[in-house]
Amino acid sequence: MKHYSPVRYAIDANDRLVEVNEAFWSFAANNDWVPDRDTVIGQPVWDFVSDTNIIFVYRHLVNVVREERKQACFPFRCDSPDLERHMTMAITYSESSHVHFIAELDCEIAWEFSARPHVIPPTRFLCPSCYRVDIEDQQLPLILALSTQFLDIGLHEIKQKICHECVYKKRSAFKLVGARQ
Ligand SMILES: [Zn+2]
Repeated sequence: MKHYSPVRYAIDANDRLVEVNEAFWSFAANNDWVPDRDTVIGQPVWDFVSDTNIIFVYRHLVNVVREERKQACFPFRCDSPDLERHMTMAITYSESSHVHFIAELDCEIAWEFSARPHVIPPTRFLCPSCYRVDIEDQQLPLILALSTQFLDIGLHEIKQKICHECVYKKRSAFKLVGARQ
């Protein structure tokens, strides 16, 4: 297994990349991406993510970290065509009002040696209104669900679906507005 130093990058209040460490460039190169500094620094971090679902999840996490000065820490998968890669992400807030991301590799296994069957993890539903995730009939805040429940289930498996409670609230609000008229 290759050893990587933790990949670190930080964004400013407008979500633009302000700093990345050396490991960022080596990790990118290892994933067949050879960016140059000028096309990375100053760019919105979301420009480098193609999956809109992942952008939705990360935007929410960044907002929580910024507004509540919380740390989000969770395991995630970052597989390559040859490797099953288990990583841990920490998202933190700094006094300079930057949000820092630290991605650390826990282990990397060639697919051919992976003991795990290639099963598709179950789809989890995330409410786009209250940001809670449905897990075995429980509604957990996303940040808590990621750190305690998901283990290494990919963020790709999260789908947006409004929860019953929010549907009910919206309906009641609609009825109230209707009643006033
Ligand atoms: Zn909801």
